[in-house]
Amino acid sequence: MDLTLDPADRAFADEVRDFFVADYPQDLLARMRAGIPMTRADHVRSQQALNARGWLGVGWPAEHGGTGWTPVRRYLFEQELERAGAPAIIPMAVIYIGPIICAFGTAEQQARWLPDILESRALWAQGYSEPESGSDLASLRMAAVRDGDDYILDGTKIWTSGAHQADWIFCLVRTSREARKQDGISMICADLRSPGIRVDPIVSIDGSHELNRVTFDRVRVPAANRIGEEGRGWHYANVLLSAERVSYAHIGRKRADLAAIRKLAAKRPRGDGRSMADDPAFAARVARAEMRLDALEISVLRVLAGDAAPAAVSGLKIACTEQAQAITELWMDLAGRDRAPFLDRSVDGWEGQAPAVPAFAATRTASYLFERAQTIYGGSTEVQKTIVWRHLDRANRR
Ligand SMILES: Cc1cc2nc3c(=O)[nH]c(=O)nc-3n(C[C@H](O)[C@H](O)[C@H](O)COP(=O)(O)OP(=O)(O)OC[C@H]3O[C@@H](n4cnc5c(N)ncnc54)[C@H](O)[C@@H]3O)c2cc1C
Repeated sequence: MDLTLDPADRAFADEVRDFFVADYPQDLLARMRAGIPMTRADHVRSQQALNARGWLGVGWPAEHGGTGWTPVRRYLFEQELERAGAPAIIPMAVIYIGPIICAFGTAEQQARWLPDILESRALWAQGYSEPESGSDLASLRMAAVRDGDDYILDGTKIWTSGAHQADWIFCLVRTSREARKQDGISMICADLRSPGIRVDPIVSIDGSHELNRVTFDRVRVPAANRIGEEGRGWHYANVLLSAERVSYAHIGRKRADLAAIRKLAAKRPRGDGRSMADDPAFAARVARAEMRLDALEISVLRVLAGDAAPAAVSGLKIACTEQAQAITELWMDLAGRDRAPFLDRSVDGWEGQAPAVPAFAATRTASYLFERAQTIYGGSTEVQKTIVWRHLDRANRR
């Protein structure tokens, strides 16, 4: 496998890097650096800046307004975005459902939904998990009963990221009961302002409101909002999930974090007049994290080049999310005792609540707590291990 970039790809990476220095809203980068949570308006402005350059529809075919990039270009773009410290593209619409609408939606659905996604006029949420159906997603029970030209939706979705800021939700629902639980599931999209939908907040351990419970009480949704065939929702969901798992690599963000850790370590005292950078145990952990990141990057490039086994995506999800958590632990060690006071960042003027604590300690403590979720969402580590084992077992039997 050739991992060197050809000159055209290298020029592309330079172009993206220049864009974030010169043409991207610099105030958003400053807010990100200060750890200020992004509002809906901030995300919209960021995505519109990318779209103005034709760089938002990553993973979409060019005929639908997508970038049409090769996997390598997509990777380079994500690297540069993360290196610049820009907010990630909100994945639900652009990364998850957009490509599904392109591939399986009707021409009418494509005309109705895709332009609003690209212009960030509509944000979406992902309605898969239910209170009794998480890892065992196929056991989901939310009912969609056909009534003339509509479906009537009844049930509850939970852990729905960003539903309080979204306009639409794509749901996996049960349209019939079949012997195999994966059958009889359909993918139906609902306008979140429909009568009968209630969105209740779930505040997470870091004090942020990202998650929600979405209740559907006899919600009438046009049958024209069903994506693809009735009963084939499990298939579309799996196409989407494989894209979701690769999207967790975040190599650029990890690299930027490790560089920032090195820089800060040189300034943080360790208590004996020397800095954390001089602490051999800490320095060794940073070096180990950097080496693991190099190895991870090669694995990501192998997956992108189609040069990896099918279960590699699951292996990568485990390794990348565990590595992200290890990096949050390095930040915690750097924060030392300053991580103890927990600041509520949802309150205006939170930076002033405890002036003795550097802001990085507050924002990184919040990340440390929230990022525990990385090994849960998008398929937990335990479930990914089962997928890897099944592939290995099948390969061994051949
Ligand atoms: C921050 C965050 C954001 C999320 N965003 C969304 C979203 O936008 N939309 C959405 O639909 N969902 C979302 N989720 C839900 C997420 O997909 C589920 O939490 C996840 O699938 C796990 O399901 P569960 O929480 O019901 O845990 P469970 O499935 O009940 O699992 C509990 C524990 O048991 C283990 N376990 C379960 N089954 C097995 C097994 N067969 N073998 C071994 N171990 C097993 C799990 O690994 C876990 O440790 C989000 C979750 C989080 C934490």
